[in-house]
Amino acid sequence: MNLNGKSFIFRINDNGEGLHIVRSVFLERGWIEYDEDTHDESEWNVWWRSSRFRTSDYDNVMSWQRLNHYPKSTTITRKDGLARNLKRMKGVYGSSVYNFCPLSFNVPNDYTKFVAEYTKLKQKTDSKNLSWICKPIDMSRGRGIFIFKDLSELQYNCSAVVQRYITNPMLISGYKFDLRLYVAVPSFHPLNIYIHQESIVRFSTEKYDLNSLNNVFAHLTNSSINKYSPNYSAGKERVGPGCKWTLTQLRYYFHQNNIDDRLLWQRIINIVTLTLITQSPSVPKVDNCFELYGFDILVDANQKPWLLEVNFSPSLSADCQADYLVKKPVVHDLIDMLNLNEVDKDQGKVATKTPRSIDSHRTYSRLSRAGSVKQLPAVNSAKKRTTPSPIILSPAPPIFGLPLVHQSDDEGCVFASGDSRNDNKLGIGHGDQYKNKTMEVPDKVVSLPPRTPKSRHTLRKVNSKGSTISDSGISSFSGHSENSSATSIRQLSETRSAKLKSRNSEKSTSVVKSLCDLNLDSYQQSKTSDVGNWRFMVRKQTAMSEKFDEEDGLNSRSPAPPLPPQHLPKTKRNPRLSISETVQPIPGSQKKRHSISSIKPWLRTRRSHLVNQRQVGLRGPSKKFGDFYLVFPFNDATLRASQTSLDARVIIREIQRQTKELANPGNTTDSSVDRIWQPVRSSESGLPV
Ligand code: ADP
Repeated sequence: MNLNGKSFIFRINDNGEGLHIVRSVFLERGWIEYDEDTHDESEWNVWWRSSRFRTSDYDNVMSWQRLNHYPKSTTITRKDGLARNLKRMKGVYGSSVYNFCPLSFNVPNDYTKFVAEYTKLKQKTDSKNLSWICKPIDMSRGRGIFIFKDLSELQYNCSAVVQRYITNPMLISGYKFDLRLYVAVPSFHPLNIYIHQESIVRFSTEKYDLNSLNNVFAHLTNSSINKYSPNYSAGKERVGPGCKWTLTQLRYYFHQNNIDDRLLWQRIINIVTLTLITQSPSVPKVDNCFELYGFDILVDANQKPWLLEVNFSPSLSADCQADYLVKKPVVHDLIDMLNLNEVDKDQGKVATKTPRSIDSHRTYSRLSRAGSVKQLPAVNSAKKRTTPSPIILSPAPPIFGLPLVHQSDDEGCVFASGDSRNDNKLGIGHGDQYKNKTMEVPDKVVSLPPRTPKSRHTLRKVNSKGSTISDSGISSFSGHSENSSATSIRQLSETRSAKLKSRNSEKSTSVVKSLCDLNLDSYQQSKTSDVGNWRFMVRKQTAMSEKFDEEDGLNSRSPAPPLPPQHLPKTKRNPRLSISETVQPIPGSQKKRHSISSIKPWLRTRRSHLVNQRQVGLRGPSKKFGDFYLVFPFNDATLRASQTSLDARVIIREIQRQTKELANPGNTTDSSVDRIWQPVRSSESGLPV
């Protein structure tokens, strides 16, 4: 137990290793790092992992804690899942809306469809403009990728996505580039999306040339590849040394070259929103989680943005100055968004040790009840894993999530299941193979057998047992080992949780009791005035309809050290009060939630990104946290959609309307674009341009 008094506590991965920028940001803010020898198991506020969390981590999360991943938030972060989901949306909502992902096929499953399309396009397209890129789904950072023209060149020995290659990328002095955007989702229900103003522009290091498709340094923009280029350090025309810019540098370049980029940014925002609304329904309604996605966008010569992939755990390592300029503020602003307060800090210390119960995890507990593995052993550190434990998961398989991100990697992780990304299935090593500069293809052509009815059956069976088969058809949440040993693990974990409970109950009973008494008292006191405010908000609803776009939310960006009490929001959040008081009331459900969460502090619904809006006169979420800007919801119609059924038709209609207005010459609408990405008229990036 930490007796130090008043500090937030952060946890990094399982063993405290990696994520140096994240660690340094927490330390800059005066947080202290979780240490299993001095802290209780639940004595932390934020746990940041490169890989996914276990089911038990969600089950045991306390009201003062935050996890940096949602359960089942990965249907868009696998290359195959993204392709499948966007194809589905295209089928439902039309190809004029979902037209931002290059034509994609998951092989081997869609091999025949690919061949049909390949043949069709070959007949009607100039061969110069028709190329394909094959990307293994189990890999990241450009590993195993190759570009090809002829079908005979397509060789794979693992599942992959074959995608139409964008042959006309926008070039700067002949160099190809793409964008890594940082997108934060502090809540999926209601869906709120923030995009960071700053991001990384990643360049190839050799000039683009369609006649040398196997030159990775000209066609791939991964920095993990380009840092091996002989040209990496050379001062390249206009681009300079290295392979990264900040987005500010790019916007300044656009300004210098009279490129009107307003519509480009709007389209990029649209891509982010349209992609995340495909994800949202599959994420359970859990609180206390947040997600930072890395969206990779390629801009073509016509200024059309294309979504290449969505990274589940975007790299937060730093190789160069641009990384420091971008990534540290991203993490700072994200922590601000969590809006942790003194109560959270104290509860971390008081350690009531009452895990968020099944009640509080209303939707999530569905998974648990359905039989998915519940309460797996909490493995806190490498040290702990080696201690004899009643929970035996041997041989310790990489059940969950990603391997840790390589420190020097800038790509992050796209993927969220298994450890297979570490394997080099195509026999191509990471990094070293690029010293040869050309792409390699496997010697042998081995097509995977199509999925057999038996394997489908197995999947279905697992699913019916309650494992969390994702939209993508692959368990993206529970590993295979969980399923196989579900029963014994459940028994063992029950023993473990009973032990934990009895250990904690002694010291916590009195604290819990007094907290409950205190909260019930103050709840009674505040109830009357809250009802008054509620009615006031309902009455004001129509009158305030324009306010959403006019007023700025609280910018809670704080300086590096922890916030002194006087800088905390004036109306300190009452731990008993749920967000239902601060947002537009939704008939029915909100009232119920209000009464439940008001009585039990640890059951309160977390919407930490929603500041006390009654105080600032907003009905929606805060518009801004540092340089994270709200892009969804962006008006009243989308706000309503976000708070109810997330009707995609409404959202698409509003997106189209907004884009049309923006495209209209002379329009003066206040759009998200103008708030986020005003033209840069001078170099503000701190880097040479
Ligand atoms: P990875 O996860 O391995 O980085 P990506 O999908 O991000 O895989 O692709 C790696 C790089 O390949 C991208 O950064 C981009 O430069 C290039 N690339 C990927 N897909 C395409 C495409 N369809 N058209 C053009 N370039 C592409």
